[in-house]
Amino acid sequence: MFKGVNASDGFGIGVAQVAIAPDLSFTPSVPEDAEQEKARYAAALEKFVAQTNAQIERMKRTVGEEAALIMGAHIEFAEDEGIKEMVGSSIDSGMCAEQAVSEAYDTYYTMFSQMEDELFRERAADVADVKTGLLADLLGKEVVDLSTLPEHSIVVVKELTPSMTADIDKDNVTGIVTETGGRTSHSAIIARALEIPAVLSVSDATSLIKTGDMLVVDGTNGKVIASPSDHELEHYRAKAKAYAEEKVALEAYRGKETVTGDGEKVLLVANIGNPEDANVAAEHDCEGIGLFRSEFLFMDAKELPSEDEQFAAYQKVALRMKGQPVIIRTLDVGGDKEIPYLNLQREENPFMGFRAIRYCLNNSDQYKVQLTALLRASAFGDIKIMLPLVTSIEEVRQAKALIEECKASLDARGVAYNKDIEVGTMIETPAASLIADDLAAECDFFSIGTNDLIGYTMCADRGNDRVGYLYEVYQPAVLRSLRRIIAEGNRQNIMVGMCGEAAADPLLIPVLLSFGLGEFSVSAPSILRTRRILSEWTKAEADALTEKVLGLKTAAEVKAALQAAAR
Ligand code: PEP
Ligand code: MG
Repeated sequence: MFKGVNASDGFGIGVAQVAIAPDLSFTPSVPEDAEQEKARYAAALEKFVAQTNAQIERMKRTVGEEAALIMGAHIEFAEDEGIKEMVGSSIDSGMCAEQAVSEAYDTYYTMFSQMEDELFRERAADVADVKTGLLADLLGKEVVDLSTLPEHSIVVVKELTPSMTADIDKDNVTGIVTETGGRTSHSAIIARALEIPAVLSVSDATSLIKTGDMLVVDGTNGKVIASPSDHELEHYRAKAKAYAEEKVALEAYRGKETVTGDGEKVLLVANIGNPEDANVAAEHDCEGIGLFRSEFLFMDAKELPSEDEQFAAYQKVALRMKGQPVIIRTLDVGGDKEIPYLNLQREENPFMGFRAIRYCLNNSDQYKVQLTALLRASAFGDIKIMLPLVTSIEEVRQAKALIEECKASLDARGVAYNKDIEVGTMIETPAASLIADDLAAECDFFSIGTNDLIGYTMCADRGNDRVGYLYEVYQPAVLRSLRRIIAEGNRQNIMVGMCGEAAADPLLIPVLLSFGLGEFSVSAPSILRTRRILSEWTKAEADALTEKVLGLKTAAEVKAALQAAAR
C-alpha cells in the first residue's frame, strides 16, 4: 500500500497505465540563420496556442468553464512578451530554438517554484507544461496522450500536467496516481472537476508500479493499493458502488434549500483552509463559509504574511462567496499546529499551553495586522471574525478592544470596512461551555469546535488509540455540554453553529437539530449528504430521539440508539 495526498474523492479500481514522458533531450546546435530559427519558434508557438485553445473548448464541454480557464494560464505563459523577448534575443545571440525555449522557460520555472505563496509555486507546473509542448513540437515528438486509454485505466505519471489532465477521457480513466502535486495544484483541481479519484505525491510511483498492475485508488483517504487481494477488491468494489450510488442520489439535493423535514431553514456552510478551497466549497453548493482556518496562510509561509497578503486572501474568499457569510477564524497556532518562524518555546503540554488566542493577545501588534486585514476585507463581503480556544470573558473583551483600535486606525487611513462586523467565538473548551451564558452576552455568534471540545471534556487525545473509546461525541458528558452551549446561545438570540467534524456526523444530526443548532459547517464533500439528512428529520422526531438518548448513561448505548434510528 502506498500513501499520498488525497486530491480527489472516490474509489477507483483498474489497471495501471504508467505513462512515461517523451525524451525531450537535444544537443544544442549553432544555427546558421537566426531568422529561420525564429520562424521555427513562431510556428511551434502558433501550433501550441491553437492546440491549447482546442483543449479549452473541449474542457468547457467536459469539465465546465471554470476548470477550462486553468488552461488559459498556458496561453498566457506561451504568449508572454517577456518570455518571447528572452527567446528571441537568445536566438540572436546564436542559440538554436530548442535551447532558447528551454532556457527561457527554465528561468521562469525556477522563479515560480521558489515563490513563497503556494498558489504561485503551483504555477511552475504550467510553465513546465508550456516548455514541454513547445519543445516536443520543435523536436517532432509526441507528448503523452491520455485521450485513447483502454477502459478501467488508472493513470500513473510522475507529474500530471494540466494539459495531460485536459486530454483525459473521463469514461476510461478510473483513477490517477502521481509522484508530485498537492491539493491546490491545477491537476488536483481538474481531477476533482472530472470527479476522478486521485492520489498525488506517491513517492516513486512510476518505478514501483508497472503497466498492467491491478490497482485500487482510494482518493478519499489518499491510499493506493497495488495487486489487491480478493478480499480487498471485494471491500473496495462495495465502497465504490456505495459511493457512486450515494453521489447520484445526492445530486437531487443540489441547488435546494437546506430545510428540516418540517420546513425549518438551517444554514449549511463549509470549512476551508485556503482561498482556493472556497471554489471547491461553492462547487459543492455551500451557503457560505463557517470556518476559514486562517492558520494555513501562516503555516504555508516562511515569515509572517503581511497585512496586504492576508487582505488579498480574505478578500478573495469574500468575493467568491458573493455576499454569503464567511467566518474567518483568527490565528489558531500551537498545540498540533506549529509555525516554525514564530519560535514558540517548547512546552511540557502544548495542548494546554501558550496557544491560539493566548498567543495572539500576547503579541497584539502582530494580531492587529490580522484583524486589520480582516476588517479591510469586510468591505467586500459578509466577513465575520471568530476567536479560537476562548476560555474566559477577558479574552473576548481584549480581542474586541483590539478590533476597535484597528477600526480607529482604518478610519484615520480613510479605508473602508464593515463597521458592524460580527465577532464570535469558538466554543471548544469546557470553560467556554460552562460560561456560555456570559460569552453569549459578549458575542455575535458561537461556533462549536467539537474536535477540541471532545478532547478537553473527556481528557482524551484523539490521536491516542488507547483512549480512543473516550474520544467520542456520543459520550453523555459531551452531549450535555453541546445542549448547554446551544441553549444559552439561542436564549440570547445569537447564531449557534458547529464547525467541528461532528456537524457532519449522520448519526448526530437529529440530536443537534433537536438542541437547536442553526448552522452546520462541514467539509465540502459532506455538504449534500448533510442537506439530505437534515431534510429527513422533523423537529418532533428529532426531539423524541434526543429525549431517549439523553436518558442513556454510556456512549455505546447512545451510539446504538442513534444507529437504530438512522434514516
Ligand atoms: C475544532 O476544534 O472542532 C475545530 C473546528 O478546530 P480545529 O479542528 O482547527 O482545531
Ligand atoms: Mg479547535
